[in-house]
Amino acid sequence: MLPKTEAWQHSNHESQSTRHACEAAIANPVEAAMKIRLVRVPRRPAWPAWAVVLVGAWLGVVALATWLSARSGQEVTLCLFKLATGKPCATCGATRGVLAALGGHIRGAWTYNPLVFTILAVAAGLLAMRVIFARSLRLGLTRRERRLAWALAIAALAANWAYVIVYVG
Ligand SMILES: [Zn+2]
Repeated sequence: MLPKTEAWQHSNHESQSTRHACEAAIANPVEAAMKIRLVRVPRRPAWPAWAVVLVGAWLGVVALATWLSARSGQEVTLCLFKLATGKPCATCGATRGVLAALGGHIRGAWTYNPLVFTILAVAAGLLAMRVIFARSLRLGLTRRERRLAWALAIAALAANWAYVIVYVG
């Protein structure tokens, strides 16, 4: 923890360097580059209570559907999109994948929904880094890079959804 004045100077310096980076980006878009910083954070993430309750409730519903599926021998889907259209949504397969992962089939889990599992793996890695080292990554993107990141994210989402529709069902 930095003393107050030092912390202020630090953040002031940072905003200046961000501004310089932006000015550089405008002047020369090719030279602008993504900045990745490792910052010190509290070890325990401050998750809001509603998020914890929501995830807990979701896990309860998933457990119920899994139990019903096992009992009836038929797959019970929780997906409203799939119930309405008969086609899987972009995150379909994630629950089956988590169950496969819990059973030790990591590669099998990934094939259920590659995008969701890649995101989960990155999130788990970041959480582990936070709990162990009290550090977190901060990405500094220029406006151009942010637009590119959005385009890539949308393309990845579309490709993943097509994959899930064709191969997972
Ligand atoms: Zn779905």
